[in-house]
Amino acid sequence: MENFERISAACLLAALLAVAAPLAFLASPPADTVLILNAQLADGTEAPFSEGALRIRGNRISSIGKLSPAPGERVIDAHGLVLAPGFIDIHNHSLEGLEGDPLAETQIAQGITTAVEGPDGESPWPIAAWIAARKKNPAALNLAVFAGHATIRKQVMGEDYKRIASEAEIEKMAELAWQAMNEGAIGLSSGLEYEVGSYSNTAELVAMARSVSEHGGIYSTHIRDEADKSFEALLEEIAIADQAHIPVDHSHIKLGTVGVWGKAYEYIRVIDEARSRGVDFMADCYPYEAWHSDIKVIVPDKQYQNPASVEKAIADLGGADRLIITDFKPHPSYAGHSLADLAKAAKLSAVEMYIRIIREGDAANTEADVIGHSMIESDVKAFYQQSWLMVASDGGIGMEHPRGAGTFPRVLGRLVREKHWLTLPEALRKMTSLPAARLGWTDRGVLREGGYADLVLFDPLTVADRSTFEKPQELPVGIEKVFVEGQLVWDSGKATGARPGVVITH
Ligand SMILES: [Zn+2]
Repeated sequence: MENFERISAACLLAALLAVAAPLAFLASPPADTVLILNAQLADGTEAPFSEGALRIRGNRISSIGKLSPAPGERVIDAHGLVLAPGFIDIHNHSLEGLEGDPLAETQIAQGITTAVEGPDGESPWPIAAWIAARKKNPAALNLAVFAGHATIRKQVMGEDYKRIASEAEIEKMAELAWQAMNEGAIGLSSGLEYEVGSYSNTAELVAMARSVSEHGGIYSTHIRDEADKSFEALLEEIAIADQAHIPVDHSHIKLGTVGVWGKAYEYIRVIDEARSRGVDFMADCYPYEAWHSDIKVIVPDKQYQNPASVEKAIADLGGADRLIITDFKPHPSYAGHSLADLAKAAKLSAVEMYIRIIREGDAANTEADVIGHSMIESDVKAFYQQSWLMVASDGGIGMEHPRGAGTFPRVLGRLVREKHWLTLPEALRKMTSLPAARLGWTDRGVLREGGYADLVLFDPLTVADRSTFEKPQELPVGIEKVFVEGQLVWDSGKATGARPGVVITH
């Protein structure tokens, strides 16, 4: 009897479920779905927006189109807002910041859902250990990592790096680059204007890039010169891409000295010519006319205490008032002042002041960090209007340049809405599907059923950066919600505390 009852009850339930299967599904929506309604859907390509809905299930986009909520389903009304794929920052400096700030508010507040670390030739090492540590202590956003050329060079040459490497050393470097790819790096980065990388020759870079290319990786490069020798440096980069058959991301493309100002279209012509013969070239660019680096980077011949070299360097920048110290351990009070002002206060010439800062830095085994206001808007604009140009911040957690907290909203607010340099779909493509394509990712950077639910919901009428050179950490406005792997990480001006970020490995 008891058994019979149980069976009949089970049969009845089964029959009910069969009849009402769709209803039963609706009656108890899985707890892991979210429906975003009435959004302007920006799919990450340049296609016009369409109004519609998107459902997130778990860490994926489960459906897109005309959707209605299931009873009890969590619904977000996105009326008036744009829903786009999360922004992929292909050149991000948050390696150190992530340790103490895994919520990465300054990054997710901009809509960045994936940050690529280890650019400019410097990466964690070994790559596998870093990836394991990040998985143990996840961040709010996804991460990926380059293997650094300088990092590998130092592994092989130790402190004896101020020379051309031997063939055996180059072979070892290529081997380590291969190893880094096996461990999950997504490519090789170089910083050829910096101390360790600058001593390498083209053959060394080709050998390492080839090793990475055979592994399906890309080459991200801060080229040898962004000043008077910008064109030679570009040609070397193209030669490396050509000989190693590797897709290239030219980091933070710029023309940073008086001698090359206004030459963006000539630069673009060289790039387009290379692209037309099959060189797989893309570039990224931050939307500012000022760069941030160390004080030695402005003297290309490395004669930091030679008055003639320093004088030329300062003139090439456009003058000592365009160089602002942002950090100097021996004299913290220098921060925020221009080289011109500091020289005046010390009753020195700008050249003498520069040399003093170099000497004091060397004595303390440190270097001053500086911001150089040495690009011009028409060049930045010309680069931004190229189809192969991606938006990347070259910023990161705790950065003293406003690009660290402002890059992506600045492009959407200032360059799109105010200056009309590009359309909103064009700008979004540069932040989403284009970097995804550069990285060979097909399931991020686009709104696609089955793709990962990395999403940004923003107000196109108000989105704007607020970080400035005085207050570089000010958070932007207009980025309403950010989802990483299907989880809400940024909501109405605050981090939610969720840390669903994964490490995307090769
Ligand atoms: Zn760089």
